[in-house]
Amino acid sequence: MAQLLLVEDDAAIRRALIRSLTEHGHAVASASTAMEAVAHVVEHRPDLVLLDLGLPDLDGREALRMMRAVSAVPVIIATARDDEAEMVRMLDIGADDYIVKPFGAAQVDARIRAVLRRAAAATPPDPTITVGGLTLRPDAHEARLDGEVLDLSPKEFDLLHYLATRPGQVVTKRDLLANVWRLPYGGADKTVDVHLAWLRRKLGENAQEPRYLRTVRGVGIKLVDPTT
Ligand code: CA
Repeated sequence: MAQLLLVEDDAAIRRALIRSLTEHGHAVASASTAMEAVAHVVEHRPDLVLLDLGLPDLDGREALRMMRAVSAVPVIIATARDDEAEMVRMLDIGADDYIVKPFGAAQVDARIRAVLRRAAAATPPDPTITVGGLTLRPDAHEARLDGEVLDLSPKEFDLLHYLATRPGQVVTKRDLLANVWRLPYGGADKTVDVHLAWLRRKLGENAQEPRYLRTVRGVGIKLVDPTT
């Protein structure tokens, strides 16, 4: 079920649209001014915005610009004017589609579904890596354990990332030096041990009672899902 934000200052139109969009299976929140709409987008991250161009506080173009400044949410413009030049300008500044008032519920529902399909197709796959209670978001350089953000140095994050993308696979110190530190083997191998010890501590475990980080004696280390 899509979460929609309907931005419409006319109370009667708003009520009618909320009713018909709800009947078409959408969850509908509403705003009656552009400022209220922008705040809602930031706070609630709706799946799509249906934006009336004639709002009391801001002109339609300004409203769309403000929304685009804070979010990439798909926006369908609703306008009373069938003004092609204006619609082209709105599409140029980031509207995904437009619809001319008055429109029927079936028509707006079809537009909404088409825009949501395009948005879903354009969304890159989620890069989040999950192993047990451990989640890594490489785009944000963020690691969490059981929902709590781990305070990792950049190198500790890289090390954890390298291991978490190979769950259950034994990795040698030589591999880690070459791929995480980009160093040849020899001399610096204590670096790996030290970082592994720090990482262990931050994961709340130790070598005697390992959970995620398992030493394979004489070979290397592997990261496992301790919950399975
Ligand atoms: Ca209006």
